[in-house]
Amino acid sequence: MRCEMNRQSSFIRLLKYMRRYKLLYVCLIITMVAGTFLELSVAWFLSLITNAAVKGEVEAWSNLILIAVGILFFIALNSYVDTYFKQKASLKVRNDIRLDTLDHVLRLPQSYYDKNHSGELLARFTSDNQAVGEASGNIIMGLLKNPLLALCAFIYLLNINWPLALISISIGPLMILVGKLFGEAMRKKSIILQEAMGSATSFLQDVLSASVLYKIFGLEKKISKQYQQYSTTISEIERSQGKVQGSANAISGSIANLSFIIAILVAGYFVAKGNLEVGAMLAFIQLMNYLVQPFSILPALWSNMQQALAGAERIFQIIDAPKEYETLPEQGRAKSFRSLTISNVGFSYSNSKEDLVLRNVHFHVKAGQTIAIVGGSGGGKSTLFKLLLGLYSPTSGRIEIDNRSGESMALREYRDYFSLVPQETILFTGTIRDNILDGNLEADEASVIAAAKKANAYDFIMKLSEGFDTAIGERGSRLSGGQKQRIAIARAILRDAPILLLDEATAALDNESEKIVQDALAKLMVGKTTLVIAHRLTTVQNADLILVMENGNLVEQGTHNELLLAGGRYHSLYYTQLENEGTENIIME
Ligand code: ADP
Repeated sequence: MRCEMNRQSSFIRLLKYMRRYKLLYVCLIITMVAGTFLELSVAWFLSLITNAAVKGEVEAWSNLILIAVGILFFIALNSYVDTYFKQKASLKVRNDIRLDTLDHVLRLPQSYYDKNHSGELLARFTSDNQAVGEASGNIIMGLLKNPLLALCAFIYLLNINWPLALISISIGPLMILVGKLFGEAMRKKSIILQEAMGSATSFLQDVLSASVLYKIFGLEKKISKQYQQYSTTISEIERSQGKVQGSANAISGSIANLSFIIAILVAGYFVAKGNLEVGAMLAFIQLMNYLVQPFSILPALWSNMQQALAGAERIFQIIDAPKEYETLPEQGRAKSFRSLTISNVGFSYSNSKEDLVLRNVHFHVKAGQTIAIVGGSGGGKSTLFKLLLGLYSPTSGRIEIDNRSGESMALREYRDYFSLVPQETILFTGTIRDNILDGNLEADEASVIAAAKKANAYDFIMKLSEGFDTAIGERGSRLSGGQKQRIAIARAILRDAPILLLDEATAALDNESEKIVQDALAKLMVGKTTLVIAHRLTTVQNADLILVMENGNLVEQGTHNELLLAGGRYHSLYYTQLENEGTENIIME
């Protein structure tokens, strides 16, 4: 019932998209009506030619040829125009819905991405979008045209011979019943098939983005076997779908053939008795087709419409999901910043007080300070960053900027205080310039070059054959780790936000590359307030404040000297690190 309601409302919402192209749909209805009458004219023409033949009216032939050519021409023209309008209308509706879907996806909160596989989201743009296109074109027009054709054919038949017309129409309900029974079975199988295909796509997406992993760990055979299972499941569902379809075709075909033969026998009897012209009998045969055909097509169309509406429903679920922003926000920059206070912040990913991953975290940062966050893995450092970036809201407590609660600010205004250099560089497929410009979409060429120079990226960029126009491959696959980091630093320099969140890379670069990246980071940090998830000794020692996080608690805070003197958790972390110092300059985890 709920499902039916959703389908209905999805249909109404789809109609609203279609209403934007009223004129196109009016044209489509005109071509549909014209097409129906053109088809009926074939029956009329058959009776005309047969009667002329029976009566031996040879002189009528030149006219008949002209009529035949005329009918053929208009049928071809109508078919072309109809297909053109249908495609145009459904492409426009698809395009509008696709753009709306992306607008909404871009505004989904981070928690949505945690719960849903990106492959599932992608399906909203591909298969579901395609289904909606079908619904707004072929399917809806089919649902209108077939009843119209059947009705007109029936009226024509009534005109020719009403008992015959009644015999012909009597199979209608039977055909609909068969169609409905099998249609329901097909619909259920389609839903299962769609789910199986969705899982296979998500699996493939994971595999394709992890080529290095399966190559190094030799997982090719395992993956191939897993995919075989997905593929076999899909084939099995399709096979059983084929069986249902086959039975439906056989049964409805038999009903149609049987009724056809009965009607022909009766018609032939009327002709033999002289109650029906031979021409009328031929017209009748043709009209019978027009009458029966819609009854066999309509249930399938109805079921296709249901499936397409299920796709529309999935799209509208995204469109209706709670969003972070009312409308797509503009990129901005905070002008001034004085202080940041994390005030008794508690946080749980499930929003319950039971499984808190941050408890009562409290600290204060003044403009220009560098804060190092250290502690064991799983302590809550990255989660704290996610809260600071406004990806999640604190479950309790609050984050204040210049004594204003983050919650009281517009989210975009809040986020504009921050910039991020993550541990694993995230770049978009595109050119180097595009990626740096993401820091400030309105920056001019001179600023891009200056940012690249400051990030120690300019020299390597100029050595590339196309300089700033060099395509960096899928997510930067054509650049080295250090190069990618420097592009990300240049991007952050251009962003010029007052608070910089920096997650130090733990992956060791070669010494020289590391020095260049460190130097670029140091330049980025000048004049900024920096919170850094720190793994390096130098970063920690030079920090104005060190926060030690363990199991979601801020267990210690103070300067390097204060914390060493305290002889607590930091003290032990520090000396463990010192012991390893000789081999790696990485600490705290
Ligand atoms: P750290 O950065 O200090 O290693 P994290 O902030 O990544 O620690 O993790 C803190 C805790 O939060 C861990 O127990 C982790 O399992 C949990 N956690 C991290 N991300 C999520 C998430 N998206 N959903 C649920 N739990 C999460």
